[in-house]
Amino acid sequence: MTRKIALLGATGSIGKSTLDLVERSPDRFAVTTVTASRRVEELAAIARRTGAQVAVIADETLLPELRERLAGTQCRADAGRAALVEAAAAEADVVIAAIVGCAGLEPVMAAVEAGRTVALANKEALVTAGALMTNAAQSSGATILPVDSEHNAIFQCLACSSGGDVARIILTASGGPFRTATAEAMQAMTPGQAVAHPIWSMGAKISVDSATLMNKGLELIEAHFLFGLPSGQIDILIHPQSVIHSLVEFIDGSVLAQLGSPDMRIPIAYALAWPERIETPAERLDLAAVAKLDFEAPDEQRFPALRLAREALEAGGAAPIVLNAANEVAVAAFLAGKIRFTDIARNVSEALIASQDRAPGSVADVVEIDRATRSRVEAAMAEVCS
Ligand code: NAD
Ligand code: MG
Repeated sequence: MTRKIALLGATGSIGKSTLDLVERSPDRFAVTTVTASRRVEELAAIARRTGAQVAVIADETLLPELRERLAGTQCRADAGRAALVEAAAAEADVVIAAIVGCAGLEPVMAAVEAGRTVALANKEALVTAGALMTNAAQSSGATILPVDSEHNAIFQCLACSSGGDVARIILTASGGPFRTATAEAMQAMTPGQAVAHPIWSMGAKISVDSATLMNKGLELIEAHFLFGLPSGQIDILIHPQSVIHSLVEFIDGSVLAQLGSPDMRIPIAYALAWPERIETPAERLDLAAVAKLDFEAPDEQRFPALRLAREALEAGGAAPIVLNAANEVAVAAFLAGKIRFTDIARNVSEALIASQDRAPGSVADVVEIDRATRSRVEAAMAEVCS
């Protein structure tokens, strides 16, 4: 049976890796829906190549161009947030959630509420609406399959669990491009240096998050909601080679890990074909060539984002939403050359202190807290920069 794939965020790094896998197995997978933010030419080309039935561009002003570029095909062009949400909820065997940021939340929730199998790369959606999303999945019968390599590794290791036997999970982190940089040197780091990740090739936002270690902080919160463990049972371990993607320690002292070359096509393939496995073009792991695996404890002094994320998880309520929104705004400002690298965590910290937001009761509440935090942080940054 061919699996119908809805690909949200088709033009991004995860989107492209997914297309690479899907196009290698045309008998197994058929792309039915593709979406993007603004890259209309690329979206239309993907829709044409895959024979998708629906293509949605988030920016409504680009709809005429999308229509024009899809003329003569069977693909329906649509645009705007409502169309995006509708496309996410439409019939599909697997929805790949690969939009970046809280912008992906409403589409992901729509897919979850429709009871779909959701392959989740868009960690910000789960960070901001964790309990709402896991509850919605329980009511609708949706399955959330983690695509993030660490969570995918844990998910694979948990296949050996009989329930209630997990002592802790250990999320590995490469440490990013500034792992060995001094606190002083970090102040002067440029966007170019921050996005040059030593191991993984990814979108700009997650690359900066890897440099601040906010990515690992978001993943800590993501792990909490995916696997139902408290903060105290989720550890972070720096492992520069990124060969061990994460580990699970069981109550008997056994530790299981998932290993592989650092290629996102491995966890994406696992989610696409789950519960089966399919071949991937990823380089095979050659441990003799790797020769040695290093580990170190994370340094929360130089990387305060990690501590802020743990505090936000433990505070609960609106704190993870505020953490994420402040981070998104600060990362965008850093990439635009408006603030320094070390100002990212400072802005997040100040937003968390200033936050008086109450716990969200609905996705609409999450969206509102996200919006309010963004304007607060933007206003605070404008004041400092003026
Ligand atoms: P990216 O920037 O390369 O791509 C993002 C995609 O989202 C694009 O298709 C873009 O058009 C779309 N998009 C952006 N803003 C949008 C908006 N407002 N409305 C609708 N669509 C929008 O990002 P990426 O690196 O592929 O990451 C995607 C998600 O996967 C992120 O949440 C990231 O944390 C997660 N993730 C990525 C990797 C990786 O290796 N790239 C690994 C693990 C997790
Ligand atoms: Mg990850």
